[in-house]
Amino acid sequence: MPSPAKLSLNTATVREQWNLKECIDGCVRHGIGGIAPWRDKLHEAGVEESARIIKDTDLSVTGLCRGGWYTAEGSLTDNVLDENKRAVDEAAQIGAACLVMVVGGLSKGSRNIHAARQLVEDGLGHTLDFARQIKVPIAIEPLHPMYAGDRACVNTMRQALDICDALDPEGTGIIGVACDVYHVWWDPELSSQIKRAGKSRLLAFHVCDWLVPTNDLLVDRGMMGDGVIDIRGIRQEVEAAGFNGLNEVEIFSAKNWWQRDPDEVLETIKDRGCKAT
Ligand code: ZN
Repeated sequence: MPSPAKLSLNTATVREQWNLKECIDGCVRHGIGGIAPWRDKLHEAGVEESARIIKDTDLSVTGLCRGGWYTAEGSLTDNVLDENKRAVDEAAQIGAACLVMVVGGLSKGSRNIHAARQLVEDGLGHTLDFARQIKVPIAIEPLHPMYAGDRACVNTMRQALDICDALDPEGTGIIGVACDVYHVWWDPELSSQIKRAGKSRLLAFHVCDWLVPTNDLLVDRGMMGDGVIDIRGIRQEVEAAGFNGLNEVEIFSAKNWWQRDPDEVLETIKDRGCKAT
């Protein structure tokens, strides 16, 4: 049962209501321990200015969302690779614990998911070369298979960890996974893959809930406790495996939480973050 200080606010949770400065102020006001900005919010506020504001607080930065999209142009163009370098740089500037990677789905017009996965692994290898130089850990976020076509062709912890092992066989911690309960809760191998990941590969832990029924594939995530995920059970497993970071709350909710007073959202997060996780 974590305290509010063990929670981190992913800015997507209040993205319709608050800019980054308001998110930071909100976290401080509510005693939430960390923040995870999305790059659009970061760019809007200015990277240097945001870094300065965050450093004036005690907030830890649990991640920067996001890099990846290696399949966007059908091959690893300079454009795709440079954009990922910029994301690594920005993560370093704000002192993020990791850069979260949503790796990309099928390339336009393609039916070859094997090719997509190879492209992703190659792309991650390039980004990792740069990330090693400036010491920013890369966190692959496996996404629920319903997104394999358009967002991420890495869909399980096993797949993500296989890529980590191929690119970083020593397990240095420079590449690992962002374990988001929304994407992985259904996986029969989840427990064994969490153990396999261990401390060095568990770089982020994202929480929200899976609503039954879910009315939108992207923007109908639930508040912790409102759905069917055993969030506490999964948290205990990642902690038993060595993860000691914050529980990052990431809720895309167009018809519910994005419509509410953001201070009410944070109050609810604190309440549920303690009771349901
Ligand atoms: Zn996530």
